[in-house]
Amino acid sequence: MSRFLDRLTYFRKQVGHFSDGHGVVTTEDRAWEDAYRNRWAHDRIVRSTHGANCTGSCSWKIYVKGGIVTWETQQTDYPRTRPDLPNHEPRGCARGASYSWYIYSANRVKYPMVRGRLMRLWRAAKQTHRDPVAAWQSIVEDKAKTKEYKTARGMGGFVRASWDEVNEIIAAANAYTLKPSALTASSASRRSRRCPWYLMRPAAAICR
Ligand code: SF4
Repeated sequence: MSRFLDRLTYFRKQVGHFSDGHGVVTTEDRAWEDAYRNRWAHDRIVRSTHGANCTGSCSWKIYVKGGIVTWETQQTDYPRTRPDLPNHEPRGCARGASYSWYIYSANRVKYPMVRGRLMRLWRAAKQTHRDPVAAWQSIVEDKAKTKEYKTARGMGGFVRASWDEVNEIIAAANAYTLKPSALTASSASRRSRRCPWYLMRPAAAICR
């Protein structure tokens, strides 16, 4: 019966009882309940975790419908480490349990963002240094420049950057930290060294 008719016949509702009056059966429209059924419906379950600035190591069951994450529950199948230790379950946190809401949030960060002052320094450095590691070095070894962007921490001011740009910054910073001698080595010796996988793309030039 429709909701409109339900209202018209509200005081003449047909009611049946069962279980000695503990349960009731009515003829009212219950189609609205489908909204809840659809909310929790899913066509497959996959295993995953979260990238929420944690270790991202907890195992979760992700319920997916039409390619959209609908909800998730803790996957409780961690092995027992020792009989005298308590079970690890459930291992996930409340933030993880609500993570499926983050994914489609209008506030979600969808593009790489870099602190504006650092971005200006980087783009200026790239004008004078073709080698990205040299460009990074020119920033981090200059006290005035490092002070300029580090003192802006916690103050917002992020600007949108391209994936190529941020990948190059990350790779250059890693290369600078790991291999300071790379700047002075000859091309031949650089080629002969094995390049870490995370430095190979897209800033492959760093490992020439
Ligand atoms: S449940 Fe919490 S701690 Fe575990 S991966 Fe998810 S966000 Fe990180």
